[in-house]
Amino acid sequence: DHGLCEADPEVSSIIKKEKERQFKSLELIASENFTSRAVMEAVGSCLTNKYSEGLPDKRYYGGNEHIDELEILCQKRALAAFHLDEKKWGINVQPLSGSPANFEVYTAILNPHDRIMGLDLPHGGHLSHGFMTPKRRVSGTSIYFESMPYRLDESTGLVDYDMLEKTATLFRPKLIIAGASAYPRDFDYPRMRKIADAVGAFLMMDMAHISGLVAASVVANPFEYCDIVTTTTHKSLRGPRGGMIFFKKDPVLGVDLESAINNAVFPGLQGGPHNHTIGGLAVCLKHAQSPEFKAYQNQVVSNCRALANRLVELGYTLVSGGTDNHLVLVDLRPLGIDGARVEKILDMASITLNKNSVPGDKSALVPGGIRIGSPAMTTRGFKEKEFIAIADFIHEGVQITIDAKGLVSGSSKLQEFLKFAVSSDFLLTDKVS
Ligand code: PLP
Repeated sequence: DHGLCEADPEVSSIIKKEKERQFKSLELIASENFTSRAVMEAVGSCLTNKYSEGLPDKRYYGGNEHIDELEILCQKRALAAFHLDEKKWGINVQPLSGSPANFEVYTAILNPHDRIMGLDLPHGGHLSHGFMTPKRRVSGTSIYFESMPYRLDESTGLVDYDMLEKTATLFRPKLIIAGASAYPRDFDYPRMRKIADAVGAFLMMDMAHISGLVAASVVANPFEYCDIVTTTTHKSLRGPRGGMIFFKKDPVLGVDLESAINNAVFPGLQGGPHNHTIGGLAVCLKHAQSPEFKAYQNQVVSNCRALANRLVELGYTLVSGGTDNHLVLVDLRPLGIDGARVEKILDMASITLNKNSVPGDKSALVPGGIRIGSPAMTTRGFKEKEFIAIADFIHEGVQITIDAKGLVSGSSKLQEFLKFAVSSDFLLTDKVS
């Protein structure tokens, strides 16, 4: 039995190149992070070999005594990491990722063609919250359920709760979804709870982006107001790629969420759980209860604020004027350029971020903004000073885009910084292995 570089030099060399790319670039994609060596060890372990359909002690396969122990440990750690009372909250740690977790919730509590309301994708929502265009039902969520998105107030960049309330009163959704992929502010959970109660809807929060911040209590706590909370595990939480669903144990609107959700995950939509992921997740959730993790999440927010403040100083327009979490959304339209071009230019200088639509965009193909996130580089030891430098580099990239000066000329300061960052101890943590 050979190791990877002997057994498959081709794949091995691609992984090596990707590792180098991750190591050398400034990683600013808000949904990405660098997980720990310990998590990766669990994910790359023999746990991947085992089938274990069902739940602990209720499996359809033999030989699951250790897998049962692992899944129970993971469940307990998840509830502890989010400060939840085991009597009031239950959890399923088997969802394969964030989108499946969301669809599993919909399958559990809705009938086909029931009505849902989530934040519109061009305003920061996620595809799996029901995205559709006037021409096409893009997400499976909008194919199987009737979706009426809510949106931001374009003058403030904040969720338009008044409009959400009015629309919900008319549309009468069975489910309202809080949470986003590109929203720099907290959701107003008390207000959303009120709206959901008034129309008899479930309230779900998809905290995928901010779950690390929630665990560390550096943003508002969705568990106080929501019936169901879903998340990915690989973003600010810094775990392996996966998903989780938290649900209230008491029935909500006459539905036993525990059995409905567990059945929707398996056998409804999935087969055998990915035990290697559950192993990595358990490791991540132990760390999520540590003082270092809380310090890390505080730093994520401080860094993001430092970045936002510097961008404002440089004259940029930020959606909502700033940030309360791990990301900023820059509206580039006042500068007469778009996010796609800036993304490309910065990519060439090993600065990785993504183009993003901003409220009021006419075309989703040429979005008018960029999304910048702080979790990944904070994992690699960056503090406020370095994030201010990042703002300056992004500014250089934007200037180059505007001037159409050529790709690398004029960015020597940035090149120097990258050389320094790679050659010094500055970026040498054990987080990338
Ligand atoms: N929910 C939100 C808010 C997200 O931002 C994302 C991914 O970016 C997802 C769900 C989907 O997660 P996955 O890509 O793991 O399916």
